[in-house]
Amino acid sequence: MKNFTNLFSVLLLSASLAHGQKNAVVDAIVKEATENSQLEKLGHELMDGIGPRLVGSPKMQAANDWAVAKYTNWGIPARNEKWGEWRGWERGISHIDMVAPWVKSLEGTQLAWSPSTNGKTVTGDVIIVPDVADSLAFASWLPNVKGKFVLVSMNQPTGRPDYNWEEFGTKDSFEKMKKARTAQTEGWTERIKKTGYSSRTLPVALEKAGAVGIVTCNWSRGFGVNKIFSAYTKKIPTVDIALEDYGLLYRLTESGNKPKLNVRADSKEKGVVPTYNTVAEIKGTNPSEYVMLSAHFDSWDGGTGATDNGTGTLVMMEAMRILKKVYPNPKRTILVGHWGSEEQGLNGSRAFVEDHPEIVANLQALFNQDNGTGRVVNITGQGYLHAYDFITRWLAAVPEDIKKGIETKFPGTPGGGGSDFASFVAVGAPGFSISSLSWSYGNYTWHTNRDTYDKIVFDDVRNNAMLAAILVYMACEDPVKTSREKSVLPVNSRTGEPGKWPEQRKATRKGGLD
Ligand SMILES: [Zn+2]
Repeated sequence: MKNFTNLFSVLLLSASLAHGQKNAVVDAIVKEATENSQLEKLGHELMDGIGPRLVGSPKMQAANDWAVAKYTNWGIPARNEKWGEWRGWERGISHIDMVAPWVKSLEGTQLAWSPSTNGKTVTGDVIIVPDVADSLAFASWLPNVKGKFVLVSMNQPTGRPDYNWEEFGTKDSFEKMKKARTAQTEGWTERIKKTGYSSRTLPVALEKAGAVGIVTCNWSRGFGVNKIFSAYTKKIPTVDIALEDYGLLYRLTESGNKPKLNVRADSKEKGVVPTYNTVAEIKGTNPSEYVMLSAHFDSWDGGTGATDNGTGTLVMMEAMRILKKVYPNPKRTILVGHWGSEEQGLNGSRAFVEDHPEIVANLQALFNQDNGTGRVVNITGQGYLHAYDFITRWLAAVPEDIKKGIETKFPGTPGGGGSDFASFVAVGAPGFSISSLSWSYGNYTWHTNRDTYDKIVFDDVRNNAMLAAILVYMACEDPVKTSREKSVLPVNSRTGEPGKWPEQRKATRKGGLD
């Protein structure tokens, strides 16, 4: 009987929405998001005021505290939940100058967790990892690095992205460049391999041999973009230099012009520091069932983490603010998770899943966004057999101009990683990714030095905040609990084995400390 009633109310709900009947809450969400948007202000405070949010850094802690203060201010109870510990590190200034054969301040920065130059400016010649016969030859060459900065990245043949070549180059010259680059890239991989080290262990070997710094160029295949990850050295700084300046150094070194570098890298080791997820909550009238918003809060620190994942963070915060205002007494409890250390392997969300089985077991749905500033254009059922029923039902309430670009795929395949929804999918809980269009995310902003406030497209973020709020509202009101029944996954075409659901992986609770 209960089921019958539920089914009946679902039909009623769907029917009324399908016939374009006004929904007062949906209208109020759109009105609040449009007329009283806080996105620009929140974006400025988080990206410009606080800045990048590397796990273990004081800025991550500042962001956690800022979010709690924001929610408190909006009347939404919030807390920082400790889930682990990390190597604490605070980024200071990076100054990199070429001082011979002529003077130029170079564009570059130390990598995350890079050792400092101990308050001094270090001067040294530049040397390139050589193309030697084997590891023995490399070992006998190694003493040459003493007192020098070592270039360990390939010198890119062009600083123009492929789309620029495609537009202006002749077909022949474009093909020729690509062929030469492929050969050069393979040659460089070989060169590193022949040293007997990997790109991970080579910097440490160079450090042990007396190098004063490691210089990389991790070009991201766009104008002016490099990806900025973490250093492997223990005592000497590792700096990444923009392609233009790296090429200059490389060519001058190769031609025997003996460039000299001045490098100052300041940073502070902060010992072992606690790491947190920020969680906020709007209690439901049925408080033991949950609908969740989700976005990781941490970032890499070459830029300010504006689109990875500042924008996802803004979407969830703004959706929470709006929901509290126009839908303060939800049927199910609304939770938001701003996760720590996604970038090192979904650690904050995996820890939450391990620590809160009661929430995970009673989760109606979770919506995660983490692929840039763009409008949401893809939602899949993550392999859940009946996802079509409820997601379609919820999407029916979303106004056409918010959802018109969205393509759905059901049942879809379960995501094994990529972002925090996967931590929930792995334990069979209904976690979904609301996935954005690109805005050149992969090359231009993802983990780059250009992931900054100016790349945020606020109209798209606003669109996504409305979408997230409406989906949460619908998931809260739905009289039916979502089904977790898994679809039979297609046979893996590579192995011939039946498809397997992703396995739960343990959170790393102590990071960067070895
Ligand atoms: Zn991300």
